[in-house]
Amino acid sequence: MQRAQQLERADSEEFDICIIGGGATGAGCLLDAQSRGLKAILIEKHDFASETSSKSTKLIHGGVRYLEQAVKKADLNQYHMVKKALHERLTLIRNAPHLAHPLALLTPCMSWMEGIYYTAGLKMYDALSGDLSLGRSEWLNKEQALKRNPSLIHKIHSAVLYYDGQLNDARYNMSLVKTAMRYGAVALNHAEARDFEKDAEGRLAVLHVRDVLTGRLLRVRSRLFINATGPFADRIRLLANPGMGRRMRVSKGVHIIVPGDLMRSDTAILVPKTDDGRVVFIIPYNGKLMIGTTETETELTDQEPVVERAEVDYLIEYVNRYFEIPLSADQVIAGFAGLRPLLQADPNANSKELVRDHEVEVDPTSGLVSILGGKWTTYRLMAMDTIDKSYELLGRERTPCVTDTIRLVGADGYAEDFWKVLCQKYEVPELVAQHLNRQYGTESLEIARLMVERPEWREPLWEGLPHTPAEVVFVVRAEMAQTLKDVLARRFGLELTDWRTSDRIAETVADLMAAELNWSDDDRRKAVRDYHAEIDWFRKSAGLILPSATV
Ligand SMILES: Cc1cc2nc3c(=O)[nH]c(=O)nc-3n(C[C@H](O)[C@H](O)[C@H](O)COP(=O)(O)OP(=O)(O)OC[C@H]3O[C@@H](n4cnc5c(N)ncnc54)[C@H](O)[C@@H]3O)c2cc1C
Repeated sequence: MQRAQQLERADSEEFDICIIGGGATGAGCLLDAQSRGLKAILIEKHDFASETSSKSTKLIHGGVRYLEQAVKKADLNQYHMVKKALHERLTLIRNAPHLAHPLALLTPCMSWMEGIYYTAGLKMYDALSGDLSLGRSEWLNKEQALKRNPSLIHKIHSAVLYYDGQLNDARYNMSLVKTAMRYGAVALNHAEARDFEKDAEGRLAVLHVRDVLTGRLLRVRSRLFINATGPFADRIRLLANPGMGRRMRVSKGVHIIVPGDLMRSDTAILVPKTDDGRVVFIIPYNGKLMIGTTETETELTDQEPVVERAEVDYLIEYVNRYFEIPLSADQVIAGFAGLRPLLQADPNANSKELVRDHEVEVDPTSGLVSILGGKWTTYRLMAMDTIDKSYELLGRERTPCVTDTIRLVGADGYAEDFWKVLCQKYEVPELVAQHLNRQYGTESLEIARLMVERPEWREPLWEGLPHTPAEVVFVVRAEMAQTLKDVLARRFGLELTDWRTSDRIAETVADLMAAELNWSDDDRRKAVRDYHAEIDWFRKSAGLILPSATV
């Protein structure tokens, strides 16, 4: 997957559909369009999944809370949204079983009344998923609950066990892009959509794109432009037509990470009620414990959102209401913050009520199509609605959507024990093989082959870490990773769960990238310096003084 080749195609070919934004929504649209036979290109300003789509709670869910709202307000729309999302859960898992799987969660109950309430709610959640259920929910008495998760506070009355899905969001996003490229789509990261050129009728005709890495300017010609920029959607809408009203609100959500052994169970906990009426999850993820989230209305800026100390304290406080052995802020080893793209009602519409979770909006003046709102779980439905609409606008007979049965790269031939092939055939160490199988499915064979080519590339980048030089080389060659952050935050996901280790391996990763991408010595040094500075900034913002990476 050579980026240079993608750049040439972007600048020289003409497309049916140009998608702006390389998060879950944009990547979903790319795969949907190209797999139906349209010629599609995706333009991403930073990196695939660099914004909200790598910073989610990583749950594939109908939303227990939305169901509660649906029942309390007798809201049929909410009910249908939950039902559709529950159906999507299984599709997401089926199409990439290495990246998504069922997750058991416990909802602690502090009284028998709560026990009845949550059991009834979660039974309804089961019923809605019908044949596509991931497991039946179950009321557990105190003894059973504590056996399932001994870290729960011992003064609970009981708990309700239920199931949702969990996904590796950034890698899922990357796999969508790669799968679309196998169908012939073009995708570019580090390419910013800057301006439109319009035809004589004022319709969008060309997108001006800047290659952020070199400053090169490209002209992308397409018959239709899709705005899939999530929280940034209003910017592109106003670029296409400055007369449009704003549709997006942005809310910041934070997760913090503590070492995995602080919870002695692989069953997650759903804290059912915060003082401001939300839920907080305590979830095992990649060997760590992920706690989140907060919800704060915020302004959109170009700076990466960061975890702040008050947010750390808020989350720790909620965990401690349900944890037998309290956690403290100094146990936090990483964290990440994302921006929710919240859709608001159209100011020009009669109704001020939002009836959908997502909406495909067409600007009749410029022809821009914007896909607004939504969530990770429903990315595929959002893409399907967007491409269905695109067929109408292109005046072409609609080819049916096929993404419900497209297995993503690495999924074909995948089995939970496929890692044994890597050990037996390529002598990959067990820890590394298991890790590669979970992250890349059967594509892990390509990484194993690199290890055969260069035996020194099989050594871990840090003692006890499953990441190896071969993995770095693979993501540069096969997944367009261009910066240290592309590798450490998105392809590996390490930066999001372990600041210190990510910082420690930055230098070695930079050496490998420099050799692959022909970086000068100055480029390499700057990349490492900037990365250290960024991790320091994360720690300071979170009010966490961790031992320096060099200690
Ligand atoms: C804290 C939090 C927790 C969440 N948890 C869950 C969950 O558990 N389950 C779930 O289903 N959903 C969850 N969500 C929602 C879900 O993560 C988002 O709905 C989804 O990731 C949005 O994807 P997107 O592609 O629309 O936006 P994004 O992922 O933000 O992608 C938009 C992309 O557009 C790019 N872009 C912007 N401007 C330009 C430009 N000018 N040129 C080119 N590219 C541009 C950006 O760089 C970005 O990569 C959560 C959200 C948050 C914030």
